Amino acid sequence: MTVPMDMLNPAIVDIGPEGLSLSCSASGPQLGLDEPGDKFDGPLAIQLELSQLEGRISVTGTLEGTAIRQCVRCLAEYADPLLVSIYAEYLPQASGTAKSAPAEQGRRNARRGAQPAELEEEADEEDELYWYQGDHLDLVPMLREQVILAAPMQPICREDCLGLCPQCGQNLNERRCGCPPAQAPSPFRVLRGRGSKGENA
Ligand SMILES: [Zn+2]
Ligand SMILES: [Zn+2]
Repeated sequence: MTVPMDMLNPAIVDIGPEGLSLSCSASGPQLGLDEPGDKFDGPLAIQLELSQLEGRISVTGTLEGTAIRQCVRCLAEYADPLLVSIYAEYLPQASGTAKSAPAEQGRRNARRGAQPAELEEEADEEDELYWYQGDHLDLVPMLREQVILAAPMQPICREDCLGLCPQCGQNLNERRCGCPPAQAPSPFRVLRGRGSKGENA
């Protein structure tokens, strides 16, 4: 596989009036997706269109591939087709007004943990706003973030996944186990029992 890092680090001057098209493939680790939960089957295909208007750079396109996720119900790994629509705006970061960069970086680092408490932040419209400094655009952090945001919080291998037996741990999608159904005591059942006793008496 060709190393896409130059491709994903285009020079600003190359984004002419007619725009710039980028097409490459990258592995997860090449996009900084290298944590144990970041698994992909094959490379990620990246197609981007860049345009520039007075220093403001728009990036649109797609990122396609196959993510390997672990089902939260049955714990089995499954292939999850990934098609991420990319839409990002880059603004020039003027030197001396670097207030946004550390905050953005900190937020991104925090998001790597993907704690439920951070869910609200992910709806922030400014998620698609990025900053660039110097004469090159580093697209890798943005692409990494978009892939992370596209991941479901509760991955499920299929809608009707039966999960694991809470008693013996058998994957119930594969076969049924012999365990008696584990049902919480129902107050209605108790009432019904009393009623029938009363009728009998
Ligand atoms: Zn499952
Ligand atoms: Zn069982």
